[in-house]
Amino acid sequence: MRMLIGGQEVEGERAIPVLNPFDGSEIDTVPAATEEQVDSALSTAVEGARVMERMSRFDRAEILARASRMVGDRIEELALTIASEVGKTIREARGEISRTVQTLAVSAEEARRLAGEVVPFDGAPTGKDRFGFYIRVPVGVIVAITPFNFPVNLAAHKIAPAFAAGNAVILKPATVTPLTDIAFGKILYEAGLPPEALSVITGGGSTVGDRLVTSPIPRMVTFTGSVEIGKAIMSRAGLKKTAMELGSNSAVIVTERCDVEAAAERSARAAYAVAGQVCISVQRVLVEETVLDRFLEAAAEVTASVQLGDQLLEETDVGPMIEEREAERAESWIEEARSMGASLVAGGGREGSLLEPTILTGVPDEAKVWKDEAFAPLIAVRPFGTLDEAIDEVNRSRYGLQAGIYTDRLDDALRAAREIRCGGVMVNDVPTFRVDLMPYGGEKESGLGREGPKFAVEEMTEIRVVGIRVKS
Ligand code: NAP
Repeated sequence: MRMLIGGQEVEGERAIPVLNPFDGSEIDTVPAATEEQVDSALSTAVEGARVMERMSRFDRAEILARASRMVGDRIEELALTIASEVGKTIREARGEISRTVQTLAVSAEEARRLAGEVVPFDGAPTGKDRFGFYIRVPVGVIVAITPFNFPVNLAAHKIAPAFAAGNAVILKPATVTPLTDIAFGKILYEAGLPPEALSVITGGGSTVGDRLVTSPIPRMVTFTGSVEIGKAIMSRAGLKKTAMELGSNSAVIVTERCDVEAAAERSARAAYAVAGQVCISVQRVLVEETVLDRFLEAAAEVTASVQLGDQLLEETDVGPMIEEREAERAESWIEEARSMGASLVAGGGREGSLLEPTILTGVPDEAKVWKDEAFAPLIAVRPFGTLDEAIDEVNRSRYGLQAGIYTDRLDDALRAAREIRCGGVMVNDVPTFRVDLMPYGGEKESGLGREGPKFAVEEMTEIRVVGIRVKS
């Protein structure tokens, strides 16, 4: 495929192969953008921002609503591309496209709602005979950099609110998963998006990504990816708005006051979705000690029933990890935990890029599978005595994206909601639950800012106050 600069399909100076993570076969190639091509995308975006700013909210909403319907009409074709390049199962890929339909539709609604507020100037001693209000204006050019695991819906979470707010966007997808984003870009043009308003540029993060981030043209960088790259981007971006959606080692608390078997099944499935490569995957599980054995037995039963294999087969539950070396890395983390005293309840094996869904218990604090982001199909289970202990343990992480708690006690649920330091607490559910209209983002090293169209639109606008002196 070719990349997209201002509506044109463009070749680069060399081709980068895109591989199927299951068998390493080449699916397609994309170009590596040159510095001149990055600069051309940036100057095109300046034009695009002018066009989008002048476009009415009604027209922006119509384009996004049309794009939502068009994506909905092409679920099967887009899902096949996503499954092939990411390695997520075909059923998971259909789910991602269906969510993209929603992200676009909700952004279309937000385009119409974007408004300001009256400011009571005459509430100030010097404000007599003044009428004031503020409006929200687009920031201008936005650089969007996305990870490999949800290439289309996470791009939509940046692109669609950006257009709803009247901005132009340059999207740089992950180099291993650029294909569906290029197809998505073409759909947006077909839906009526002015071509100058969007470029989809392919190439390496440290080259193409860095040139975009350090350019003085964009007013905002919106990034989803790892903490390490997020920090690097913040240190390189200079005086720009930044939105950072970063990693996590999300925890779920399972108290004795719940359907323990149901909680075990849902936690295990949420840990293995997309081979554990979801920013809100269940990773740490804290189970009340009175029900630990029941939890482990039920989780092991689910794990044994999971079908691991070729992501394109309808019956597959868990596909490959993105690259064999990532599966090797996760395997070495499991080995490290075992060498530190943890026991294996299920899984642990690996064949190429396929890592068996894995359950560990007795994992010490210092083990990477407990303290870092595993991003692999595994859970580390520990018992707890009191809810205070469990909440403290959840909070001992450097991350804070989402958490879950299973309990039928309202006061415990609300205490967890107040005291767990993260962007979202799901009661009687796993941290992995998300709907696309909700505010979504992290505390601590999980990031800055919130996505979800209503909230992203605010981040992607500036407030401009207008004061009018009125003769009395
Ligand atoms: P990554 O390695 O951080 O890469 C993310 C993006 O950054 C890619 O497009 C990458 O390009 C680009 N990049 C790399 N170096 C760069 C640089 N110096 N300047 C500018 N851009 C640069 O992340 P990943 O492995 O794709 O994704 C996994 C991570 O994303 C996990 O930590 C996960 O938790 C996080 N994530 C968070 C959320 C959330 O909403 N909070 C959602 C999904 C994933 P290349 O591909 O060319 O290297």
